[in-house]
Formats: sequence, C-alpha cells, structure tokens
Amino acid sequence: MLQCEMIINGQPVTAATTFDVINPATEEVFAQCQQGSAEHVDQAVAAARAAFPGWSRMADSDRAEKLRALVPLLEARMPEFMELVTKESGKPMAGLNGVGSGMEVGGTMAWIGFTADLELPVDVLQDDDEARIEVHRRPLGVVGSITPWNWPLMISIWHIMPALRAGNTVVLKPSEYTPVAVSKFVELANEVLPAGVLNMVTGGGDVGAAISSHPDIAKIVFTGSIATGRRIMESAAGNLKRLTLELGGNDAGIVLPDVDVAAIAPKLFAACFHNNGQTCAALKRLYVHEDIYDEVAQAIAQQAREVVVGDGLDEATQLGPMQNQAQLNIVKSLAEDARAQGATFLTGGQEREGAGYFFEPTVVTDITDGSRLVDEEPFGPIVPIIKYSDLDEVIERANNSPNGLGGSIWSSDANKAAALAGRMECGTVWINDHAVLHPHTPFGGVKQSGFGVEFGNYGLEEFTSLQTVKIMKA
Ligand code: NAD
Repeated sequence: MLQCEMIINGQPVTAATTFDVINPATEEVFAQCQQGSAEHVDQAVAAARAAFPGWSRMADSDRAEKLRALVPLLEARMPEFMELVTKESGKPMAGLNGVGSGMEVGGTMAWIGFTADLELPVDVLQDDDEARIEVHRRPLGVVGSITPWNWPLMISIWHIMPALRAGNTVVLKPSEYTPVAVSKFVELANEVLPAGVLNMVTGGGDVGAAISSHPDIAKIVFTGSIATGRRIMESAAGNLKRLTLELGGNDAGIVLPDVDVAAIAPKLFAACFHNNGQTCAALKRLYVHEDIYDEVAQAIAQQAREVVVGDGLDEATQLGPMQNQAQLNIVKSLAEDARAQGATFLTGGQEREGAGYFFEPTVVTDITDGSRLVDEEPFGPIVPIIKYSDLDEVIERANNSPNGLGGSIWSSDANKAAALAGRMECGTVWINDHAVLHPHTPFGGVKQSGFGVEFGNYGLEEFTSLQTVKIMKA
C-alpha cells in the first residue's frame, strides 16, 4: 500500500491515524495518507513563518531559479505522477482530446516554468528634483492553500507557484479525496526549497477550517465549492485575510444559427464532457438556436455514444469514472429530476453496473431554465441542451445565474460573437471554444463564482500588497 506523509519544515510527519484514498475506477484503497489536525496546522504555520524572512529576502533571481529547478525533477518522474493522478482522480492517462493525466502533469510543468519566469517590476510614479516615488510589490507572509479533487496536482501548483514566486511561504491542504500526487510533489519540491517554505498538512474540512481561521496566515487561496468558499470567507474575517476564491461555475454556451454543426460538434462535446464534466469551467448549459437545435443535439449525442468510457489506466479510455460517490449521487439526482419533469434523454442517464463510480455520458433535451439540471452545477458527465429563439433573451437567460465563471458564444462570424462578449456576466468569454486556460491569461469568476484571478502577472499580483516608497530629494 502506498503511504504518504505530511511535510512540515522540510521533514516527513506522521499523525496518529491515517485515512484511505480510493481508486474511483475500482473502489479499491490504493494509498493511505495522514489524518492531520489543528496542531499540525499550527506547526506548519510556525515553520512557514520562520522561513518567511529568508525566502522573501532571497535575491529574486535565486528564488526564481529554485522554482525553475522543480520542472526537471517532475519531468524525470512524469509517468509515475501521471499514474498517481489517474489512480486517485479517475482521469484517464490520455483522455478525451488529450485532456487527461498527461495534460495535468504536463500543464503542471508548464505553469511552474512560466510562473517562475514572471517578474514584479518596481513602478516609478515620480522622479524629479523634489522626490522619487516608487511602488513595490511586497509578499504577504504565510499563504494557506486549500484545493479540490478534480485537477488535484495542477490546481495545487496554480496556488503554490505564484505564492512562492512573490516571496510568500505556503501551507497547503489538498482535497482528502486526492492528496497523493501532490504529497509526492511536495516531497520532491522540498529537495530544492529551503525548509519551511512549502508545507503540507493532509486531512478533511477540519484541517481546512484550521487554516482559514489561523491568525498567522495572511492570505487564503481556495478552489472549491461555493458553500465552502462562504465558510472560508467568514472564518478568514478574524485577521482580515486576503482571499482568492475560485468557486463553482455553471457555464453557459450559446450556439448561433450560422454555425457549421459538423465542425463544432466535437468541440462542443469535449467542452461539456472532458474530465467527465468535472472541471469548474466546463460547459454546463448549452443554449442552441431553434433552427439547428435537433441537429446539434443529435450530433453531440452521437459523440456521447461513441466515447470510450473505462478505467483511466487503459490507454484507450477517453472518459474515466466520476471521482467520488457523493458527486455521482448529485448527478444521479439531477438526472432523476430531469426525467421526472419529462425531459428527453438522447443517450445515457444511468449509473454503470459493477465497481467504480461510472455514470454514462448523458445528453438531455426538451428541458429549460428553472429545472435543477439547468440551474445547478452538475459537475459530471451530463449536459442539458436548451432551445432558444431570440439572442437578446438567451443572453439574459445565460446571465440569470448566481454563477459567473466562464461562458462561450459559437458562431461562424467570430466578430459578431465577440461583440456579444461584453454582455456575458462571467470572468472569461470564449468564442468558438470553452474552458481552455493558459498560464499567461487571467482566470477567475464574478458573482458567486468567486473573486480574484489566477495566472500571469494579474494572478501573481494577488499574492502581494503594494508598498509606496517616497524618497525626498530636497
Ligand atoms: P469542496 O468545497 O467540497 O472542497 C474543497 C476543499 O475545501 C477540500 O480540500 C476540502 O477538504 C476543503 N474544505 C471543506 N470544508 C472546509 C471548511 N469548512 N473550511 C476550509 N476548507 C474546507 O469542493 P470539491 O467538491 O473538492 O470541488 C468541487 C467544486 O469546486 C465544484 O463546485 C467546482 O466547480 C469547484 N471548482 C472550482 C474551480 C475554479 O477554478 N473556479 C476549479 C475546480 C473546482
């Protein structure tokens, strides 16, 4: 059985008890991790505080160099990390359109390298006979990172790297469902980083709560559900922590009648179903113009019938199991509700018999706003396709959601579609694409999808505060 330890002050740490990590394709336990506690959080925060002066005052180029050094370490062990990601998350090694563990580990390396190369230049606002005024970006101190289970390694890197690059030290708590690959990564990173710079405590929501309420943590970066985001915001108020909250999405895609259906159907399908829809910014509500509604729905259903579902360790698998039983139950209940309301299931709709948290790729039509499957985030392999006739009205319907993570418009006239982008209430609008992220492009939500952005310089700046320095000359 694979064992994982916590890392505090550069040292492996065990707890009194462990918890099991389940392979969602087989429901078998394949690893055990330490059941951390609030005391472990205290120890990790103390280590991170002690490491902060050395790390934040290190020459900027040396800090960047240490972070860059993590890329070859990971690259040398890429197959092993891919297998761990697949075993704990269910994500296939290759995956639909290449969205699998290879992308997760490859993306992790790309994000580390790109973020390590970012700079935070000093802004000179005035330099004359009277004074020179400079604005510096200073690190905040200890950053607490709390991550979800859908992209366990990559999302941890999205948190850790900009925090460290800006000179902060980190206490990370991965999801209790998927702590394995990231545990091994933190172990590896501690071969390069000074002790205490990157610490990890494993466990459940109680460990997360101990982090978000800790008086010596300056900022929390959290990716996960809206409900947990709210709790974190409340408990972070004690010492006015800075927050970046990347929360749930219920992204709408709007398909205009001028599209080439055959050309966009595979892209639409992948946008809805990659990683089984368990991506925050997957396409989750598809609005299609009435002129092409049946054609688009049938084309997507055909893709769903043909996609290869199975154990992610099998190279041919395009979609694996869902990651956990609780999320599978949510999808089942949304499907049952849609069925009870008289919606049409073009394909799928059932849990698969046998071991593993498998749900058939499911395409639902004859459904509209106001039903649970449209209004709530399914975070699973099921998509409602909704008919519309008027463009102004459909934009209103797309915006009529408490979420605002991403959205997309699909049209043969990209300029016309781009002109509509400003009317979408969401953090990212894609034209003829959806849920594709880049290390240089800011990503984040509006409304209850959270606030703050990640990636690029905009994301890096979120791990700093501004300090104005005025140097008198006269
Ligand atoms: P979750 O909120 O249940 O758990 C996320 C993390 O929070 C876990 O590590 C968990 O242990 C921890 N946690 C639980 N209770 C806590 C508490 N009281 N205080 C502090 N931490 C606590 O979310 P999940 O089920 O792991 O992830 C799925 C959700 O995440 C979906 O809604 C999805 O849309 C969202 N998500 C958003 C993004 C984004 O970038 N916006 C990315 C991925 C996932």
